[in-house]
Amino acid sequence: MNPRTFRARIRQSLADETLQNALDGNAQRRAVGRLQAFSSLPDHPERRRRAHAVKADVIAHLDEYLSRFITQVTRNGFRVHRAADAKEAIHIFLEIAREHDARLVAKSKSMVSEEINFNHALEQAGIQVVETDLGEYIVQVRGERPSHIITPAVHLTRAQVGQLFHEKLGTPFTEDIPEMVAIARRVLRQVFLSADIGVSGVNFGVVETGTLCLVTNEGNGRIVTSLPPVHVALMGIERLVPSLDDLALFLSLLPRSATGQKLSVYTSLIHSPKRFDDADGPQERHLILVDNGRLAMRNSPLAEALACIRCGACLNACPVFREIGGHAYIGRDGSIAPYPGPIGAVVSPALLGCENYGQLAQASSLCGACREACPVDINLPDLLLRVRAGKVSENPEDHNHAEGIGIPALLSLGLKGFRLVAYSSLLFSIAQRLGGLLSHLYSPHKKYMRIPAWSGWGYSKDFPRLEISPFRTRWGKIKQEVNHRDQTTRLPEKPMETGSLPGPNLAARFTDELAAIGVNIYQLPEKEVKARLARLFQERGIERVAVDDIGEKYVTGIQSVRVPDPTIWAGVTGALMGIAESGSLVLVGGEARPLTASLLPDLHIAILRESDLVATLAEALARPEIRSASAAAIITGPSRTGDIEMTLSIGVHGPKEIHVFLIEDPR
Ligand code: SF4
Repeated sequence: MNPRTFRARIRQSLADETLQNALDGNAQRRAVGRLQAFSSLPDHPERRRRAHAVKADVIAHLDEYLSRFITQVTRNGFRVHRAADAKEAIHIFLEIAREHDARLVAKSKSMVSEEINFNHALEQAGIQVVETDLGEYIVQVRGERPSHIITPAVHLTRAQVGQLFHEKLGTPFTEDIPEMVAIARRVLRQVFLSADIGVSGVNFGVVETGTLCLVTNEGNGRIVTSLPPVHVALMGIERLVPSLDDLALFLSLLPRSATGQKLSVYTSLIHSPKRFDDADGPQERHLILVDNGRLAMRNSPLAEALACIRCGACLNACPVFREIGGHAYIGRDGSIAPYPGPIGAVVSPALLGCENYGQLAQASSLCGACREACPVDINLPDLLLRVRAGKVSENPEDHNHAEGIGIPALLSLGLKGFRLVAYSSLLFSIAQRLGGLLSHLYSPHKKYMRIPAWSGWGYSKDFPRLEISPFRTRWGKIKQEVNHRDQTTRLPEKPMETGSLPGPNLAARFTDELAAIGVNIYQLPEKEVKARLARLFQERGIERVAVDDIGEKYVTGIQSVRVPDPTIWAGVTGALMGIAESGSLVLVGGEARPLTASLLPDLHIAILRESDLVATLAEALARPEIRSASAAAIITGPSRTGDIEMTLSIGVHGPKEIHVFLIEDPR
C-alpha cells in the first residue's frame, strides 16, 4: 500500500455522515467538559508546567527511576518482568498463563496491549480474552480496533451497537442505551467471576512507593485487579512519576483532560498481592514492563512524546482528527495505527516504524490546538514536524528523507525554494511585498482569492488574499490593541479552590461535591446512624449485606457477610477519608476490610466521620495508611460510562447507587 491509500481512507471517513456526526458530538462535548473541569482548577497553567518538568526529569533519568521502581515493586511482592519488545511481552504472559493453566482472561483497557497486539496473540495461543471496558468490548465484538484512546467506540451509533448485541449476544434489538449497558453488565459479570487471570494497564507507576495507579470510570479496572486469583499489569516503562505527591498533581490533570471530571470514578492504588490477613485481592500479581522502542525513543528527537499521559485531549482538539476519526490513521501497509491523532502521529512512527507510520504526521494542520490542550505541555506541532522530516532517531542514517515519507517531489522542491528565501530577511521581505501586490492586483475588491479547484482550496475554506505590509507590523498593532483592552477589562483573580478549609466548610464542600456527582448524603449524629440505615434497608427490601468491620457495627436486624459474594445486592463499608475538593471516598483494603464490598453490589453505603475529611487529594495520598495497605480505592460517584454516543449511563460494572452517611462531629 502507499500514501494514496491513506488519502483514500481519509476521503472515505469524510464521506461517512454517521461518523461525522459521531465525531462532532464527541469532540464538542469533550472540549466543553475539559474547559469546565479546568475552571475549578485556577492554578492549572502552573500545574501543567510542573507536570511537564516532572516528566522531563523522569525521561532524562529513566534508567535510574526504573531501577528504583523495580526494586520497590519487587519488595512489595510483585513478580516483575521486563520485555524488550512485543514478542517478549507476549511470551512472558503466555508463560504466566501456562503456569496457571489459564483459559479465560478478563482484561481492562490498556493502550500497551493494543500496541503489542495482545488479544490476537492470546487467541492464537487458544486463550480467550475478553475486553471489559464497555467501549473496548463493543469494538472487540465487532472485530475492530478502538478508534479513540478514551472512547474506543466513538465511531458507532446506538443503533449499530443495538444491532451488534442482537446479532452476537442474541439479545432483542434495542436502541435504549441503559438497556444495552445492563446487557453488557450481565454478560461481563460472568466473565469477571470465572476469569483465571485479570489483565490491566497502568496509568502511573509511583517510584518511591512502588504503587500502581489505575483510573477507570466503569469499575472494570478495579474488578480485574481484585477478583481473579492472578493479576497481570502491562505497563510502558515511561509511565513513572517519582512520588505520591507527583501522582496527586497528575491526577488533577488526567481526568479533567480526558473526561472533564475532577477525578475519575475509580482511582485504584495497588501495592501488593493479597496479604495473609487481607479479606480479598489476588494471590499473585505480576508486572510486565514493556520497552518496545521506548528506550530508543528516549534518545531520539521525539523523546518529549514519552511524557504523554494518554488523556486523549489532543485528539479531541485536533481539527483533522475531528474530521477523519481514529480508523483513518493507517500505515503504508494498511494497518490501523494503535495510537491515532496528533500524539499517535508521533508515537506510532517512533515505536512501530517511521517507514510504515511516518505518513500519519501529514494529517495535521499544525494549528497548535493539540499543544494548547495537552495537560503536560508537549510541543506536538514541533514533534510532528520532526516526524515529517524523518527525524525519528538520533542516528542521522536512520533519518528518512522527505521523499521517503510521502512528500511529492514538486512540493519538496518548493519547500527548498521557500527555505532559501526564508533564510534571508531581505529576500523574504521582497517576496512578501511582491506576493501581496500581485494578489491585490489579482483580486482588488475581495478579501479572498479565486484559486483553481485542483488546488483543494475553496472546498471548505477560502484562500485569503495576501497582505502587502509585513506580519510584524500588523502584529504590533494588534498587540497594542489587545493590551489596551486587557488593561481596561481585567477580571478579578478567582480564589484558589483547593487548600485547607476549616472543619464545617470542609463538610459543606464535601456534601456539595457529593450532590454534584449524584451521591445521596445523610449528615447526622452517630446515635441516629443505625436507625436510618435500618430504614434504608427496609425501603429497599434489603435482607443481606456485604460489610467490612466498620459497616458491621452499624448493621442491625439483617444478615451481614464479610466474604466477597456477587449475589449480594448492597454493601456497607467504612471510609478512611473523604476528599472535600472532589467528593471522593478513600477506602483501604486489609484485615476485615473487603474492598469488593464497595464494588460488586448494586448499592454501596459508606460511613465516615466529619473529622475524617481532608481538603485535597494530595493530603489524602500523604496519609501513611495509603502506603501501608495492599490496595486502596478512591471512589468518586457511582460507576458510569459515556461509551455509547457519549450518553452518560450509570452502573456499568460497579455500584449504581452510593449513599454516604456522614457522622457529625460533636459541636
Ligand atoms: S499528547 Fe498530551 S493531550 Fe495528547 S494524549 Fe498525550 S497527554 Fe493527552
